[in-house]
Amino acid sequence: MGLLKRKLKLAKPAYHDVNASWFRINHQIRVDDWVDDPQWQGQVEEPRWLSTNHLLGKGYWVWIIPLSSGATSIGIVADPNKHPYAELNTFARARVWLSKYEPQFAGIIEAHVDQVQDFLTLKHYSYNCKKMFSADGWAITGDAGVFLDPFYSPGSDFIAMNNSFITELIVKHYAGEDIVQATGEYEKLFRTLFLAFGTVYEEQYPIMGSARVMTIKVIWDFTLYWSGIALLFFSNKLTDLVFMQRGGAQLQQIYQLNFEMQGLFRHWAEAELPNGDMRDKFLNYTRCSSFSIPLPSNSYLHPAEQYFNDGVGSKRPKSLPIICFPDGIS
Ligand SMILES: Cc1cc2nc3c(=O)[nH]c(=O)nc-3n(C[C@H](O)[C@H](O)[C@H](O)COP(=O)(O)OP(=O)(O)OC[C@H]3O[C@@H](n4cnc5c(N)ncnc54)[C@H](O)[C@@H]3O)c2cc1C
Repeated sequence: MGLLKRKLKLAKPAYHDVNASWFRINHQIRVDDWVDDPQWQGQVEEPRWLSTNHLLGKGYWVWIIPLSSGATSIGIVADPNKHPYAELNTFARARVWLSKYEPQFAGIIEAHVDQVQDFLTLKHYSYNCKKMFSADGWAITGDAGVFLDPFYSPGSDFIAMNNSFITELIVKHYAGEDIVQATGEYEKLFRTLFLAFGTVYEEQYPIMGSARVMTIKVIWDFTLYWSGIALLFFSNKLTDLVFMQRGGAQLQQIYQLNFEMQGLFRHWAEAELPNGDMRDKFLNYTRCSSFSIPLPSNSYLHPAEQYFNDGVGSKRPKSLPIICFPDGIS
């Protein structure tokens, strides 16, 4: 726990309940070598192993991250309702767990088990903080304040957003402005964002077992992220309180829409049959989001159009991304 958080007794539990264990292995794991089929090999232009690769199943995901040292970072992130922490919290148990849920990958780990470098684990890694910014001259950023979830790495988003709020407060303060109101507004904005990001993760881990639904959820999450918060951030609008207040009602609508969509994904995944029918499907994400449909034809994103028209100006995409699914996953 961060120094200030401990000293000021600001610790606050987070609702999101997921555990993680991770370790490094001094060996380059190349996902590309797992399949001989040249058609599968040719589906992507760059080597797969250079990316972070995710193996997903009901209630969990496993990360495979190549490190510059030549080692590979491997992590298991799992919902305790499906995968009790006691099954993951030592290296020996994590090996057993992998052999049960990701046997092909476990075989590779077993072949290099003598090259394991370390093992770390975190129970209920998500946490909150009662207060992040104060007009008395202190503020908290990064993992010292809050942490939500490692999927999509929102920790880095919160670092960027909170650092922007804090920088703005420092600039205002040294410009002689009273920062009491701005501090309160940024705190509120941060809370709203934490809540909004939370809906993407909370109780959503079971969806990872449904290839069809999770695929569509990822497209949805990307779409909302790049056409929403990321666009605001890159347009330097997030700290502009006048702008953010003007768009408040529209943002609330987007939040509500996302809330409903996350519920839909959850219920849909519960109703889905096992993943057999998706086994050999390949989805090129770069071909999924169509930017060509004019917004007014799509009523539920219409408020966002007005909102972005209002302030983001030329940086706004001509139309917001509308999800269109290629053959095979519709
Ligand atoms: C399971 C898990 C997986 C993750 N995977 C990813 C990922 O793949 N990609 C990604 O982008 N993010 C990932 N994250 C998130 C990412 O690790 C954090 O968001 C990020 O490291 C936070 O950076 P930070 O600077 O706030 O804190 P830290 O990285 O924790 O840095 C804080 C530093 O301050 C030092 N420190 C603490 N107290 C003091 C003190 N009193 N004096 C001096 N120094 C001090 C600490 O030693 C530490 O070096 C993951 C997080 C978790 C929990």
